[in-house]
Amino acid sequence: MSPQPSASIADRETWPSVIDVTVVDGETFQSVDPATGEQVGSFPVHSEADVLAAVGRARPAAEWWAGLGFAGRAERLGTWRAHLAGRSAELAGLIHREGGKPVDDAMIELATAIGHLHWAPRNAKRVLGPRRVRPGLLVANLAATLEYQPYGVVGVIGPWNYPVFTPLGSIVYALAAGNAVVFKPSEYTPAVGRWLVDSFAAVVPEHPVFQLITGAGPTGAALCRSGVDKLAFTGSTATAKKIMAGCAETLTPVLLECGGKDAMIVAADADVRAAADAAAWGGMANAGQTCIGIERVYAVDEVYDEFVTALAERARGLRPGFEYGPATMPAQLDVIRRHVTDALARGGRAVVGGAESVRPPYAHPTVLVDVPEDAAAVREETFGPTLTVTRVADVDEAVEKANASAYGLGAAVFAGNGGEQIARRIRSGMTSVNSVLSYAGVGALPFGGVGDSGFGRIHGDDGLREFARAKAISRPRFPAPLDVTRFDRKPWSMQALRLVLKVVYGRPPVRRRGQP
Ligand code: NAD
Repeated sequence: MSPQPSASIADRETWPSVIDVTVVDGETFQSVDPATGEQVGSFPVHSEADVLAAVGRARPAAEWWAGLGFAGRAERLGTWRAHLAGRSAELAGLIHREGGKPVDDAMIELATAIGHLHWAPRNAKRVLGPRRVRPGLLVANLAATLEYQPYGVVGVIGPWNYPVFTPLGSIVYALAAGNAVVFKPSEYTPAVGRWLVDSFAAVVPEHPVFQLITGAGPTGAALCRSGVDKLAFTGSTATAKKIMAGCAETLTPVLLECGGKDAMIVAADADVRAAADAAAWGGMANAGQTCIGIERVYAVDEVYDEFVTALAERARGLRPGFEYGPATMPAQLDVIRRHVTDALARGGRAVVGGAESVRPPYAHPTVLVDVPEDAAAVREETFGPTLTVTRVADVDEAVEKANASAYGLGAAVFAGNGGEQIARRIRSGMTSVNSVLSYAGVGALPFGGVGDSGFGRIHGDDGLREFARAKAISRPRFPAPLDVTRFDRKPWSMQALRLVLKVVYGRPPVRRRGQP
């Protein structure tokens, strides 16, 4: 990490394009307000020994927490939820200062996260609790029970772009499932991480059920090797590969929530103005620093011109510093600049913004058209307030182009009719219809990607199961009529087994009329 120059807001135009958080003396580092460069907090760079100690402390805490049961945990998590909601203005202010997003956006992020904090503990028993399952005909004498037990200690590594919503997607579901959590927030947003951990400790003071470790990549790597029972990572695809390799050494299971290059499809019968508004917000809110943000639009020929005009009008009206904040991670500005200049050099046109859009610490809105599909602006995650819009002949071509990506996180479809059918054809973990990002706020809907966007799910029933191991228990209720699993079985019992197999399982399914 390079040194942080002291800079005031007035110096902005003279800032170097890349500034970074400071490691002051190798043992501590600062987080800064990305708009002003002012220090927000100072934090320890935790060593491998510190990480191991935290995981060691988490072990008995996990046992105690699991012992509270679903009801006990739901009560504590409910109290934490109320605490967060009650102090939301304070936390939103901190998210704003440390990450740069407007306070309103921070409040929306917080509200969405609190919705999950409400949902997960209320549903944990239904999803994870013991239940009887049918044993099947051959072993009809058995009582079969399925339950999902906590892993124990879960390590969570988070990014900076949604420093509450994103890590809580893992943390809340892991806690509701009965695990203790050791959390390493991004080095860009440790103060928000500290706030979350301190606020939890205020309602669960007995044991360190939810702990913080701070630092950059090496601290995260130490967490991967620490012997945690599961590692939940959210961040870039490149780091996810290192996480998986690190966790492979100890066969630690991983959940990987990585980057995206989400597409929006605009069909001929779409409400074009609504689609343009949604593309502008989905692509440019939070300065485009949204994993499920819209980065590419495929608009069918009939509505393409109208869509581009409406989008350009909306994007031109956005003022960095008001509707959205600065780039939280200054190095991202270089990526945005490279994507825009490369797109223009390869025949693309900027209908809004252009090569000069990057003015540290802000990136101004940019809408690019006629960009070749193999350009970086279409293929790689830009993570800036930029959109490419491509004309397609029909929805089939739009789906084909949307799916021609290594990523597969979210997507959006705008269509008058058949939006859900189009949504099903998109290779992504989530797709919203006539809306953007709307699935993220639904407690019952799983969140996660395919391909380079990772695997595993947070949120919903799947998100709870992600943080628990399936445990199967079987017990005879009465002696098996056909007991073949013993050395002294009767000769007739194998004959009977063959007969049962033939009679019960030996016929193909009956095809009902009308079925293909
Ligand atoms: P990043 O990969 O640079 O860092 C993420 C976290 O990993 C940080 O806490 C970092 O300190 C840590 N880390 C870095 N190197 C490590 C290593 N070798 N071992 C262990 N930990 C290490 O990502 P970022 O820049 O913080 O976040 C932006 C990325 O996150 C974007 O790609 C975005 O799309 C993605 N993201 C995805 C989701 C999702 O739900 N899929 C949500 C938010 C952000």
